[in-house]
Amino acid sequence: MVNVVSLLTTSAQRHPDRCALRFAGRRTSYRELGDAAARFGSALLSRGLVPGDRVGLFMPNCEQYLVALFGAWHAGLVPVPMNAKLAGPEVAVIVGDSGARALIHSAAAAPLVRGLELADVHTVEVDPAAPGEDGFSRLLAEGTADLAPAEVGADDLAWLFYTSGTTGRPKGAQLSHRNLLVMTWTLLADVCAYTSDDVVLHVAPLSHGSGLYALGAIARGADNIIYDGAGFDPDAVLGLVGRERVTVIAFLVPTMIVRMLAAEPADTGSLRCAVYGGAPIHVEHSRAMLDRFGPIFVQIYGQGESPMTVTYLNHASAPDIPLDSAGVAHPGVEVRILGDDDAPVPAGGEGEVCVRGDVVMRGYWNNPAATERALRGGWLHTGDIGRIDERGCLFLLDRSSDVIISGGANIYPREVEEVLVQHPGVAEVVVFGVPDETWGENVVAAVVAASSPPPPEGELISFSTAHIASFKKPKKIIYLDALPKSAYGKVLRREARRLVLAES
Ligand code: AMP
Repeated sequence: MVNVVSLLTTSAQRHPDRCALRFAGRRTSYRELGDAAARFGSALLSRGLVPGDRVGLFMPNCEQYLVALFGAWHAGLVPVPMNAKLAGPEVAVIVGDSGARALIHSAAAAPLVRGLELADVHTVEVDPAAPGEDGFSRLLAEGTADLAPAEVGADDLAWLFYTSGTTGRPKGAQLSHRNLLVMTWTLLADVCAYTSDDVVLHVAPLSHGSGLYALGAIARGADNIIYDGAGFDPDAVLGLVGRERVTVIAFLVPTMIVRMLAAEPADTGSLRCAVYGGAPIHVEHSRAMLDRFGPIFVQIYGQGESPMTVTYLNHASAPDIPLDSAGVAHPGVEVRILGDDDAPVPAGGEGEVCVRGDVVMRGYWNNPAATERALRGGWLHTGDIGRIDERGCLFLLDRSSDVIISGGANIYPREVEEVLVQHPGVAEVVVFGVPDETWGENVVAAVVAASSPPPPEGELISFSTAHIASFKKPKKIIYLDALPKSAYGKVLRREARRLVLAES
């Protein structure tokens, strides 16, 4: 059986009474999780969905998230996880592009979802504060636990992973059952060999790294605690680790680690593994985290198109790998550095990091041109610039695109620019990231005003939050007389950034 739901069904058979999930004081056993997943899937089928249909997931972390994820697979449906912080127009684009036939959303997002006026989409409300009384519970009651898991092909679609495109139009990386299973084996072999004795804490969004890495924990029958705080509170997280004797933190982005370094001393002696990645970490912070918490960390480098899996750096088993490296390729994953002509660069040279193997996506949803670009020559072109040393260690130098990574979230400058330029007081704008101790990078917009006096900074910032998620808004607006441009009239984003940094 190749359906990724088998990771749950085998655990439900083997450890039916073991605790699978803990959230907000509630516990779900493996039997209950397996049954709920089957009910979820069968109820959607009886509402008219057919295998292969997409199901949007738009809610913060909660136990229902994993029910919906595995439930969709159980019925051969395709989850489309979305960041719970997205704004209405962003959700509308993803639901429209994916052609989702159902949208499972939090009660808090109900007004936003109503505003989308979605036709022919089954919307189901999850209220983590009132389980048993929400639309999600009613949906489960319509289903049956007797539905057999769907037969799927290894290359059938299992997760549509939306990454914002540099043009602002999001692209759906099509991840297959094979991709997710190979990712899980790779995780269990190289990153963290979960066992049924593990207590695994999920603090990062289940729509991204933590959800992907939950698969391995479920496969091994571990006890998964879903952190229920409103935001990442390092003292609360470390307190939870001590109280519940957490052994593994499923996934952290570097900014969470930086914030944990500033937290009060806590008993973290139960921790044997903490996985982090998704953005660069400063060497100074790596050193401090190893000093404070010990060599329990494993760094991973991947991207939506090759989920969680390109290279890894296990600080315990490979202390000789330099801290400014993203580690070595997983066995079975080929990593090559290619030049602008797509030919391999000489050993040790810089170029684009390219990847080949069973974890690489099968292409972008409904976007053959972008697929052709990204997968040309049979290699996934990551858009990251790097080099590989003689021992096979990868060093990531920069991103070839200008993606800003703030708090572990990717922000595409163009998307922010397209909003700001709609303001009548803005003639021209260029957006870029500047280094920030806490967030990794902050969004800054350099604006040429359309009139005098220019629109106030606060007005432009609140204007942007009406259109895009708050975490994407510029933290600072700089006013310039003109933007730096090339001879062809193209705005030089890096030059603008350099000018602003030189003056600050
Ligand atoms: P996403 O597709 O949202 O997971 O973002 C993937 C991008 O995040 C990669 O292409 C890299 O630019 C960056 N990234 C992921 N992991 C690491 C890492 N360990 N070190 C540096 N950058 C990383």
